[in-house]
Formats: sequence, structure tokens, C-alpha cells
Amino acid sequence: MFVDFHMHSTASDGVLTPQQLLAHARTQQVHHLSITDHDSFAAYEQRTLWDEGDIRITVGAEFSTQWSGVGIHVLAYDCDPQAPCMQDLVKHQTQARRQRALRIAERLEKQGLHGVGEWLQQRGLERYIGRPDFARYLVESQQVKNIQQAFKKYLGAGKAGDVKQSWADLETVIEAIEQSGGLAVLAHPDKYKLTNAKLKRLLMHFKQLGGRGMEVVSGRQLPDRTEYLGRLCTQFELYASTGSDFHEPGKAWCELGRQSALPSQIARMETLFKTTDED
Ligand code: AMP
Ligand code: MN
Ligand code: MN
Ligand code: MN
Repeated sequence: MFVDFHMHSTASDGVLTPQQLLAHARTQQVHHLSITDHDSFAAYEQRTLWDEGDIRITVGAEFSTQWSGVGIHVLAYDCDPQAPCMQDLVKHQTQARRQRALRIAERLEKQGLHGVGEWLQQRGLERYIGRPDFARYLVESQQVKNIQQAFKKYLGAGKAGDVKQSWADLETVIEAIEQSGGLAVLAHPDKYKLTNAKLKRLLMHFKQLGGRGMEVVSGRQLPDRTEYLGRLCTQFELYASTGSDFHEPGKAWCELGRQSALPSQIARMETLFKTTDED
């Protein structure tokens, strides 16, 4: 039996609907999970229609924010999406995403890429929009070879399409999570390419602001990283979380429920999660 507390549905940039995610989780023998769409709890709006069976579900989302000039992601678990402070946060992030999309289009056009503004106008901003949508457009219009190249040349960290100033700041995100009864967890600390010293500063600040956990395991990762992140987690008195960051089937490094194992002697995040009886 497996657990997985980080995955995306069609409510953000994943390819499976929440129902399809649950069916996939079942075939992967995942018995406890959280669907953590970017800046959105929309996946949970149709929850009464889900076939949950005996899968335990913890409400979640993954918020985009920034710290010290670096774009980082914070997972929220067990908060009440209806709480006014959480609704305000989601509204702000949705608005920020839409404004950012317009700026990304402008910046990509300035890079000499064509048709981005027109494509965006036709697509509209009602549905969730993120950088993967731009990457797909660039592939479809044959301006890059594949999604990887779109990120490498135009959308990844530090590139023209990486516009990140508009998100709610880290303090606001953690506060909204806490005040809506939830738990804040730093997502995939290895993805920010921070030096060890800067990562420690981030963890210290994150903890001071009320952060409760960190993803010691994100997808399949090297044992020495798990060991290092596990040590940091204990040092900063955080709880250890684990998730695949699943977006679509067929990606071996982030297949649902198949992330590397957490160190055995560590305080696990899910011990803080609400049980169904408390819902
Ligand atoms: P956004 O939320 O709009 O900032 O987009 C970030 C999302 O883009 C991430 O959650 C990933 O799903 C995706 N992403 C980021 N970097 C890459 C990459 N190098 N290749 C493919 N997808 C990526
Ligand atoms: Mn994503
Ligand atoms: Mn992320
Ligand atoms: Mn994610």
C-alpha cells in the first residue's frame, strides 16, 4: 500500500480528471492521497460525485509564491477552502495567473515568437492557465521541438516567460493556510536550485512563519538527497511529507504513489492530517 500527497488533476495542469486520478490511484494501490492543484481547490467542488471507495483523501492545493526572489511552491493540507481568508487567497492567485498570462504572451512575442497573443485571446482566461499551456502552444505551432525545449528556452526559471512577481507573498500564503485550519508544507525543496546555505535560510524562515512540514521526498530521487533533506527536516523541526508531483501517466520519475521511500525514523506529515471522523 502506498501514499501520495502531491498530484495534479485537470483543475490545473494535470491530464486526469479527479475521478480518473482516483481510478489510477486504485490501480497503483495508493490508499491515502491528496489532490494538490496549483492555486486551486476546484478539483474538490464535485467531490460528492467521486467514487472514493476506501481511498482516504486529504484536501489540498499547491500555492505559488516567492521568497527572496525565488519562485517557490507551498502545499496546503486540510484547510477549509470556504474560509474567507482562503477564498481571498485563491481569488488573488487566480487574478495573478490571468495577469501573468497576458505578460507572458507579451514577453514571448518580444522574443520573436509569433501568434502567442492571438492564441491567448482565442483561448480566453476563464479556464486555469499556466506555463505548460504556453509550452503546448509553442510545440503545436512548431516554434519549439518539445515541452522540455519550451521551458529550457522560454519559460523556465530566469527565462523571458518566467514572470513571478505577482503571487501572494510567503507570509500571506502561510497565514491563509493556517487561519483556514490547514497545514503549510514546503513543496519539492530540491527544485529551486538553492545553495545549501540558502535552503537552510528558507527553511528557517518558513518555520518561523508557521510552516509545519517539507517534502523530504518528491518523486523518485537519489538516496543521498533523501537522506540530506531528511536531516534538514529533523533539524528544523518540520514534519516530512512525500508526493510524486504526478501530472500524467507514463512518467517514471513521477508516477503516482511510486516516489522514493521516506527515511524510516522521521516524523511523518500525515500523522497531523485530520481523520474522516473529524470532518
Ligand atoms: P506555473 O504554475 O504556470 O508557474 O507553471 C509551473 C508548472 O510548469 C509546474 O508545476 C510544472 O507542471 C511545469 N513545469 C515546470 N518546469 C517544467 C519543465 N522544465 N518541463 C515541463 N514542465 C515544467
Ligand atoms: Mn504543474
Ligand atoms: Mn510545484
Ligand atoms: Mn506540483
